[in-house]
Amino acid sequence: TSAKATQPPRLSVIGTGYLGATHAAAMAALGFQVVGFDTDPTKVAALSLGKVPFYEPGLDELLVEQVESGRLRFTSDVADAVASSDVHFVCVGTPQQATSHAANLSHVEAAVRAVAENLVGDALIVGKSTVPVGTASRLRGLLAETAPAGVRAELVWNPEFLREGKAVQDTLHPDRVVVGGASARAEELLRTVYAQPVAEGAPFISCDLPTAELVKVSANAFLATKISFINAIAGVCEAAGADVTVLADALGHDVRIGRQFLDAGLGFGGGCLPKDIRALMHRAGELGAHHASRLLQQVDEINMGQRERVIAMATEACGGSVLNRRIGVLGAAFKPDTDDVRDSPALNVAAALHLRGAQVTVFDPQASDTARRTFPTLGYAASAEDAVQGTDVVLLLTEWPELVALDAGRLAALTATARVIDARGKLDAQAWRAAGWEFTGLGRIAA
Ligand code: NAD
Repeated sequence: TSAKATQPPRLSVIGTGYLGATHAAAMAALGFQVVGFDTDPTKVAALSLGKVPFYEPGLDELLVEQVESGRLRFTSDVADAVASSDVHFVCVGTPQQATSHAANLSHVEAAVRAVAENLVGDALIVGKSTVPVGTASRLRGLLAETAPAGVRAELVWNPEFLREGKAVQDTLHPDRVVVGGASARAEELLRTVYAQPVAEGAPFISCDLPTAELVKVSANAFLATKISFINAIAGVCEAAGADVTVLADALGHDVRIGRQFLDAGLGFGGGCLPKDIRALMHRAGELGAHHASRLLQQVDEINMGQRERVIAMATEACGGSVLNRRIGVLGAAFKPDTDDVRDSPALNVAAALHLRGAQVTVFDPQASDTARRTFPTLGYAASAEDAVQGTDVVLLLTEWPELVALDAGRLAALTATARVIDARGKLDAQAWRAAGWEFTGLGRIAA
């Protein structure tokens, strides 16, 4: 009826992890009625109480506000979530497969199947998870097979570009909205959902399904390539006696290049970039696009090589073996402003040194709990001071502002030898040297 058509669409969010929980709270903040569903009952229980099960700046406040407003609720009953909504955002995980570089699509398939089986009326399914190109078109087949007869169900792809640590801001004020494969009706619905960001100037880019899927993975591949590029140049800087941090600043002034993602160091990690470039490497290979596969293979190798470099530098600082040496590790999260340690370079280096016999003590302002769950055998300290106590070498592995700002003089007195390796290129080398530290940085001039 025309009365119904003027009602704002009611939204469901299927999968309430980093992406889904943020999306659900942000859509409620935009004024929509939202229900979040997750197969993990502990997440549903926490979110229902207004508690975010992970650290994301600003999300706690937004979640509490939106749950209290009555616009946002969470359920463990998928039939309830589907029956209460018109538009269903699929936000489940697409991790790397255990035995290959390809993405594991079982969660996305299960989510679409569960929505389809429980549809009670016309609906729009909007994939937001990051998927290999070609996935959405297969999911359309699944939807057509599974949806009840007589129900008009459409599936489109609307990839998500949010950054952890800035997820709320990125969701409410995206740089662009990309929608693939939408009919006129689906596009109208999504223009309603994203009316506010679009009114604020975010371009609404409507394209075909494979283009939408590929925009997301290409964006991540480009960012990863930029980081591996500067790390490759850092190797040249070290060999030639140049300073990569000064070089990166100078490069960054060129607006065609830009300064972001040009920090030489330990490289990228997290739940997205590594698995996304590997999935694209794999998919490009399947499609016969071998240049892309080879390029990304190099990007990945350079990136993983940085972890080996830092392990080797730490070993050298300990006199050739880390066995029974005490190593203080500052940072465990894959980047600042998150407690996410999925494929974290920092935790990877800390664990590798531990496995080689070092006594490793880690401090992270937010990620100690998630790190402890992943690597319970490492030592965890309650402060940076405790982590560096009596150590043979200190490693800065995640560039949290509070770690970068640590007082070099005060810390030096606590260690056994005042040796530091800055694996993120963020410490003030001069100040640390002046405070008595033997300072080593990747791609920077030796003392
Ligand atoms: P996550 O692991 O934090 O969350 C995934 C959630 O899905 C979990 O809570 C899990 O319990 C739930 N789930 C799994 N199967 C389900 C099912 N069948 N039905 C309902 N819920 C189910 O992962 P994430 O970081 O939020 O990533 C989700 C997707 O978003 C991935 O494809 C990722 O690549 C993409 N993405 C993530 C980010 C990010 O910064 N985290 C940014 C952009 C895109």
